[in-house]
Amino acid sequence: MSTQQLLRHLPGVDTLLLETDHIRCGEDLPKNLRTRIIRQVLEAKRRAILEGRLQDISTLEIPRLIAEIHPLFSAAIQPNLRRVINATGVVVHTNMGRSLLAEEALQHILSVANHYSNLELNLDTGKRGLRYTAVSSLLTEITGAEAAMVVNNNAAAVLLCLDTLTRNKEAIVSRGELVEIGGSFRIPDVMTKSGAILKEVGTTNRTHLQDYETAISEKTGLLLKVHTSNFQIMGFTASVSMKDLAALGRKHGIPVMDDLGSGSFIDFSPYGLTKEPTVQESLEAGADIVTFSGDKLLGGPQAGIIVGKKSWIETIRSNPLTRALRIDKLILAALEGTLRLYRDPAKALTTIPTLRMLTLSENACIRKAQELQDQLRSLSLPAMDIRIQPSTARAGGGSLPTQDLPSRCVVIRCSHLSAAALERQLRSHTPPIMGRVEEDSFLMDVRTLQEEETAIIVQAFATLFSTLSIHERPQKETP
Ligand SMILES: *Cc1c(COP(=O)(O)O)cnc(C)c1O
Repeated sequence: MSTQQLLRHLPGVDTLLLETDHIRCGEDLPKNLRTRIIRQVLEAKRRAILEGRLQDISTLEIPRLIAEIHPLFSAAIQPNLRRVINATGVVVHTNMGRSLLAEEALQHILSVANHYSNLELNLDTGKRGLRYTAVSSLLTEITGAEAAMVVNNNAAAVLLCLDTLTRNKEAIVSRGELVEIGGSFRIPDVMTKSGAILKEVGTTNRTHLQDYETAISEKTGLLLKVHTSNFQIMGFTASVSMKDLAALGRKHGIPVMDDLGSGSFIDFSPYGLTKEPTVQESLEAGADIVTFSGDKLLGGPQAGIIVGKKSWIETIRSNPLTRALRIDKLILAALEGTLRLYRDPAKALTTIPTLRMLTLSENACIRKAQELQDQLRSLSLPAMDIRIQPSTARAGGGSLPTQDLPSRCVVIRCSHLSAAALERQLRSHTPPIMGRVEEDSFLMDVRTLQEEETAIIVQAFATLFSTLSIHERPQKETP
């Protein structure tokens, strides 16, 4: 077949537009989107013909072309940001959106999203109000703080507090607390950006009250304590308690700030988890300002929460940077919806997904794994070995770093398909199923699976192995 003959056989854009007019992919595809995809496919064919890579004329038949175009249409209408199934066992997974919102938070977003709201309106006076009013009373009620405000995230909260309190002044911080949190949040860098002068005291493993005291001078603007969220120093260590640091601050008239990072309201130790200082405890110990994230152990939306002494919060609020870091109204609604659940801690534990997953018992994990295993086995997929294996889930998000959450994995080993290939197939499923590969097995930790997701996974395996011509695939593939 000559190049010219092949080229003449290529249908025109209009022909394919007409032929694909009926394709819906769940919604109408705009004509210019279809045109663009068809042009790309035809252009690729033309190039292949000209470069001698395409000689089989049957691949240019219209049904064959449509079969190629159809999946491209489906891919094109998918949003870029979409739901995934987290079978990694990492509860607060930063790359997968950290916390899932509680139903109450979702409902509250809906109620203000497509209506006007009293976002910055005082309904008693009819005059302008403060954006934070929706959550500040809840935050003071829950934590016992005098005042509260919220910004975009905790990184912004730390930046704002340092900018307000220590511009051109020194902030004294322990060397052991100069941490980097995932995604390039480094305490020393944030301090430099804020104009604060970093004054390191102590050593990596040991810092004493005396170290802070001797570093205090007329240039000191703040004593800062940072929760070493994502690591732990073991062995010969010493750090100063918030109680002692607060007393030192009071003695010298210097504010004391606690960047708690995860910032829980609930003591998880009765549920077998490591004791973490709660926001309430930090305030009780005398911290003037406490900052923490909304979407880590709190289980709400991304937000940076600042609570503490009224005079300091008012000073921080009047910083012009506050306007640049302000929280969006939908997030504010989600945060209020979440915080309301904390009025009854027992209810918070069952209704806030992050808390529910963190405190899920090992027995509950075993039951979930059993159900997934049974359903997968009942598909009777050939050459597939399905087992349950003990695993260790994690809190993630730089929370509870040393905490092992005993859990269970459903382990898939398939003689026709490498674990890497299976992982790739499941990652390209809609919705993508994210597990992990270990020694040519594919592992799914059930602790982070939501209720309806077992059925989706089972359906995914059923479809995958009915459509996948597994024999065409090499036995082993490099990832
Ligand atoms: C996570 C964390 C931050 C950053 O919080 P974001 O809400 O992710 O901006 C800051 N400080 C500490 C100690 C943290 O753990």
